[in-house]
Amino acid sequence: MREQGFPVAVLARRAAVLTGDLRAGADAAEIAATLREFGEEVSTVDESSMPLLRQVADELYAAFAVDSLDACVAELNGMLARWAGPPRLSDHDGTVWHLHLDSADDAPWGEWLAASAAYALAAIVAETGRPPGGICHAHDCDRPYLNSGSGGEQLFCSTRCATRSRVAAYRHRKAD
Ligand SMILES: [Zn+2]
Repeated sequence: MREQGFPVAVLARRAAVLTGDLRAGADAAEIAATLREFGEEVSTVDESSMPLLRQVADELYAAFAVDSLDACVAELNGMLARWAGPPRLSDHDGTVWHLHLDSADDAPWGEWLAASAAYALAAIVAETGRPPGGICHAHDCDRPYLNSGSGGEQLFCSTRCATRSRVAAYRHRKAD
């Protein structure tokens, strides 16, 4: 059974993962698999959906990459203005009632991602008063990460990147 509704934290994590995957060159089948992991009822993502998804991933990347709260707010407000319509409740595909800000249940995947992600990231800013995350600090990685709820800066997209950065820093210190 799926969790009740789609908590903002899950929408934000889905946005960060899809942004990282799309910018790393994931194909339509891989994106469909990621969507299923996040509970979407989808067998395939049409190839024609990919250009808009990639464009939206670049917009989301910009919102994660900014270095101030004001700049992050400007990016997210821009996305909301471009992509989000009036909120409405939907129970498409037998799901529990949940909020959508895209224009229709059959809106393009790119519009769906942009509207749901901008909404979730904006809700986190409103709740925490700080940017929702950033871009991974590990060498050769530019996947977005989300700040943890506890207030500490996260800095890495994954345990793997955090570990290899720690090891690299240790080697660097030893070399000095
Ligand atoms: Zn990383």
